[in-house]
Amino acid sequence: LGRRINNAVSEVTRSNVVDQSVVDTMLKEISNALMEADVDIKLVIQLRKKLKGKIEAEEEKPGVNKKKIIQKAVFDELCDLVDVKEAEVFKPKKKQTNVIMFVGLQGAGKTTTCTKLAVYYQRRGFKVGMVCADTFRAGAFDQLKQNATKARIPYFGSYTESDPVKVAHEGVEKFKKEKFEIIIVDTSGRHRQEEELFKEMVEIGEAVKPNQTIMVLDASIGQAAEAQARAFKESSNFGAIILTKMDGHAKGGGAISAVAASKTPIVFIGTGEHIHDLESFTAKQFVSKLLGIGDIQGLMEHVKTLNLDQNDSIKNFQEGKFTLRDLQSQMNNILKMGPLSKIAQMLPGGIGDMMNQVGEEETSKRFKRMICIMDSMTKTELDSDGSLFIDEPSRIIRVARGSGTSVTEVEAVLLQRNMFARMAQTTKNMQQNMPPGMGKN
Ligand code: GDP
Ligand code: MG
Repeated sequence: LGRRINNAVSEVTRSNVVDQSVVDTMLKEISNALMEADVDIKLVIQLRKKLKGKIEAEEEKPGVNKKKIIQKAVFDELCDLVDVKEAEVFKPKKKQTNVIMFVGLQGAGKTTTCTKLAVYYQRRGFKVGMVCADTFRAGAFDQLKQNATKARIPYFGSYTESDPVKVAHEGVEKFKKEKFEIIIVDTSGRHRQEEELFKEMVEIGEAVKPNQTIMVLDASIGQAAEAQARAFKESSNFGAIILTKMDGHAKGGGAISAVAASKTPIVFIGTGEHIHDLESFTAKQFVSKLLGIGDIQGLMEHVKTLNLDQNDSIKNFQEGKFTLRDLQSQMNNILKMGPLSKIAQMLPGGIGDMMNQVGEEETSKRFKRMICIMDSMTKTELDSDGSLFIDEPSRIIRVARGSGTSVTEVEAVLLQRNMFARMAQTTKNMQQNMPPGMGKN
C-alpha cells in the first residue's frame, strides 16, 4: 500500500508539468491502492474529495509549489485516517482497579506486549499485576511467568485449570483484593475452532469486566488486519490497538484498514522484543514510515559535509550499529549544526515533531538534558546499546539521580537511541540493496 501511494505521488513529483490530468491520475491510483487494501470505500471517496479540494484551493494561490502541496495533502489526509480523534483515551486511575484485557491472534505479540505495558505503568507508579488466561497453548503460562519475573511484575496463572474464564476471574479477583491498580489479562489467540476463540473472548470479558480492552495487531499481516479487527471488535469491542513488530520490514499499511474498520485508535507501537520496546503512537510518524519519508540519505550527506566531532559514530551508523555514545556525539553535532529546524525534519524518533511543537530553543534545551544524562553514564553503559539498563533497571534510577533528571527522561534517551539504531539498520540495508557504487562513499 505504502509503495503504491508513494509511487503515485512520486510520479507526479517527477513529471515537470503538474496539470489536472496528472493530479487526477494520482488521486485515482491512491484510491485504488487504498481500496485494494480493503479500506472502507466511503472513506476512500471522502479522502479523494478532500485531497482534490485541497489541491485545487492551493492552486489558486500564486507561486506555490504544487508538488509540495500534493505531498503534504496526501500526508495530512493519511494522518487523519489513522488518527481517530473522536475516540476517548483511556487513562487508568490511581487508587482504584483498572482491568486491561488483551485480545488478538496467536503470535500477534500479546504476551510480550502485556509485559511491556505492565512495565510502562509500573514505571509510572502504578501497582501492576498480570493474569495468564491462555490455557490453550502449552507453555503460555511459563512464557508470561518468565516475562513477568524478568520485569518484576506479580503474576497469576494455573498449570492445572483448563478453563480460561475461571483463571481470568480468579486472577483478577485476587489482585483486586490485594488492591492492585492495574490488572492486565493476557488471553489465548488460538482455538480448535475460530468461533470458540471469539466466544471465549466474550466470556472472559464478562468475567473480568475490563475497563480497557486492547487488540494486539501484528503490523506485518497486511490486508488481513481489517478482517481480524472486525472479528475482534464484534466479540470484545476493544477500545485501543497496539501495533506490534513495527521494527521489522512492515510499514503497517494494513493497520489503516484495521483502524478504519474498527474506528479505534492505535495507542502504542511495539518496536522490538525487549520490554522497553514500546512507543506511543503518533499518526505523523506512522504515515512517514508508511510513505517511506525520512530523508536518511540526505541526512547522511549533510552530516558528511560538516566538519564535526567525528569519532566512529558515522562509520558505526553505516554499519548498522549505534551506541549511546554515538547518540551523545550525534546530539552534540546536531546542536553545532544549527539551524536546528532544518536538520530536525530529517531525524527519526519524532525530533521533527518536537521541533515543530516546542520550538528550537526548547528542543535544544531537551537535547542538552539528554547529553547531560549520558554524561552520568559509565563507560560501559555509553558504549553499549542500552540493553544493560533493561537487564538492570537500577542503572536507570542511578543515572536519573546522577543527572538530576527523572526515570522517564532516562528512558527517553534509551528510546531515542533505539530509534537512531533502527535508522542505522535501515541505512545499512538500503546500502546493501543498492547497486555497487551507489549509496556508499
Ligand atoms: P502472542 O501469541 O500474541 O502472545 O505473541 P507473543 O507475545 O508470544 O509474541 C510472538 C513473537 O513475536 C515472539 O517471538 C515475540 O518476541 C515477538 N514480538 C512481539 N512483539 C514484537 C515486536 O514489537 N517486535 C518484534 N520484533 N518482535 C515482537
Ligand atoms: Mg501469548
